[in-house]
Amino acid sequence: MVMMIWTLYLTLAGSILGSFYNVVGVRVPLRQPLLFTRSACPACRRSLKPLELIPVLSYFLQKGRCTSCKATIPLFYPVMEILTACLFAFSLLTFGFSYEFLIALLLISLLVIVVVSDICFMLIPNVVLLCFTLPLVALRLTLAPLDPWFDPFLGAVLVFSLLLFVSSWKKDSLGGGDIKLLTLLGFTLGTQQVLLAIAAASFLGALVGGVFLLARKRSPEEPFPFAPFIAIGTLFVYFFGEALLSFQLSPFLF
Ligand SMILES: [Zn+2]
Repeated sequence: MVMMIWTLYLTLAGSILGSFYNVVGVRVPLRQPLLFTRSACPACRRSLKPLELIPVLSYFLQKGRCTSCKATIPLFYPVMEILTACLFAFSLLTFGFSYEFLIALLLISLLVIVVVSDICFMLIPNVVLLCFTLPLVALRLTLAPLDPWFDPFLGAVLVFSLLLFVSSWKKDSLGGGDIKLLTLLGFTLGTQQVLLAIAAASFLGALVGGVFLLARKRSPEEPFPFAPFIAIGTLFVYFFGEALLSFQLSPFLF
């Protein structure tokens, strides 16, 4: 019962924070202040009323349009809010109240923000990466260590050198932001998980990129945001990697 209340609370907090992360993801690249400025409709510039600021609900109450100018609000805003809410609740159910739960919340928050920035502007802001590097590194080095203790360092160094090699070999295949993000993920997830996450992200990216190419929705030279695939791969491996690996390996062990 108590856990149910906490799960509900985290769903609510997740949707509110998800809504804030949308704002962060859009405003940081534009160098706009994050706090004390009312959100406005990007089309008609009218400040939003309190009723229009409720995460998820406002979008559906307004049927996805601005109440005055009727401009459509991108569907991905409520989608990011719902995803943040679900992932926050899922983290609690997976880890309970532990230090790993804190890592999960930080990881989800970081990924939601960079996905928004990457989809809107094709970039991953340094300042966002920096803000999350400090708590993630501090937690991994103290309260939520990996086993063995040097695995975060190994993961980060391995990912960084691997991606540096790939990007010098095939120019413009990876953005600098992607490399920095994945290096931080290497530190947070450790060697095995981050390599799996990169493999999953590349596979998904190639698959979706290929489908878009075939559907002639983009040209082969046109870059497309990679952060959404990194986020999906990372969260999938982070939450299910262990189970997947043990399931995969079990036939060989017995
Ligand atoms: Zn408007």
